[in-house]
Amino acid sequence: MRCHYDDQGAYYRCARSGEYVCLDHARLDVVSVGTRVKLPPLPVRRARSQDYDAIRAIAMMYWGETEVECFDRTYDVLALPAFLAFCGDEVAGMLSYALEEDRINIVMLNVHPEYQGRRTARSLLAMAEEEARARSVSRLVVTTSNDDLPALYVYQRWGFVITEVKPGAILEHHGHEEAGFATIPVRDEIRLERHLRATNEFAASN
Ligand SMILES: [Zn+2]
Repeated sequence: MRCHYDDQGAYYRCARSGEYVCLDHARLDVVSVGTRVKLPPLPVRRARSQDYDAIRAIAMMYWGETEVECFDRTYDVLALPAFLAFCGDEVAGMLSYALEEDRINIVMLNVHPEYQGRRTARSLLAMAEEEARARSVSRLVVTTSNDDLPALYVYQRWGFVITEVKPGAILEHHGHEEAGFATIPVRDEIRLERHLRATNEFAASN
């Protein structure tokens, strides 16, 4: 998918016009909950070995590389487990993660613009949460950048809290200022985590 305004790769679909837009041409608006179009959620499953070409394509499309720095470690998404959302045979989105001793690191989370607005990120996060419970780890952690307001929205809506802000960390890593979402300069690393409640506690409150 290409941006409606130039030939850059599209990251988002405009919720008003339906146009695909790149980071430069995306903007943020507040809408009321009643105006959201509700489409059925897409099915999600664990990635299989034959899915890794698609995972590589997603990583290259949105990040330009398959290696990601996350919580002071470098991961290659081609060597990590992942969950995928599908629309028919098409991959709609991907969550790549690393299982650590006491937590799951969400290393990459992307939903293709044509499948946004269907709670796909949430479906993928729900799978990660299920995995954490199955592996008896109590935290999901993720890093994002100061400009990535859609990501900060999704994670905080899903119960993540900001645990650390590293001012200038990404700027330092890149060595120069890059424009991010809506041309906001990418500067700071923001770390978030979600503590999972014990299953019995969860059951008791539901
Ligand atoms: Zn554009």
